[in-house]
Amino acid sequence: MNVSVVVALVQHIIRLKYEKVDRQAREMAYDIFKENISAPDVISFHSAVKLSADIAMKSWQRKWELETAGYYTIQLIPEVGRKVIFPVVGISYCRMLLNYTMLNDDANRTGTAQSPVCECGNERETVQHFLLKCPLYREGRICMLNLIKSICASRKGKTHLDISEFLLMAPTSNGCVSNRDNKIIKAAVFEFTEMSGRKL
Ligand SMILES: [Zn+2]
Repeated sequence: MNVSVVVALVQHIIRLKYEKVDRQAREMAYDIFKENISAPDVISFHSAVKLSADIAMKSWQRKWELETAGYYTIQLIPEVGRKVIFPVVGISYCRMLLNYTMLNDDANRTGTAQSPVCECGNERETVQHFLLKCPLYREGRICMLNLIKSICASRKGKTHLDISEFLLMAPTSNGCVSNRDNKIIKAAVFEFTEMSGRKL
């Protein structure tokens, strides 16, 4: 018998065993509910954890379904506990917006880094330092800034855009960046963040 057949057979036996245990548990719960039998005095730690998790999940699901706000999100994610794959760079961007990153300046403030100074040794590792100054990410920054400069060159009226952390983080905040350029600048910032490999 080859290995894959043995593995498939073992998986099948395990599944049958779980189905049997699950069926027995449901039958027992029903008998306790009907008062045909008494509830056991002793419950294993594993069973207690599973029971608590089931109750919490059902409670969250009920709350989620009765929620009046966030209807659109509920349509997209109808079941609580479902894993939603979120791009890591998107999370990094949100953390920078919240000024609550793992960069040393923030991490030192929240007590998870000994020093606020960047690994490069030049100054505090702030969002501004990370995006615009740190020599450790020079290569990625050149690509990002070149892309943004090409936007400036093609802008109507060619008004000058100051490259600042505010332009990179919230391009429309100065009121003179179009939606199209906003998307391009954000994409460039995301690309830079991803290329840097810095955990944010
Ligand atoms: Zn640095």
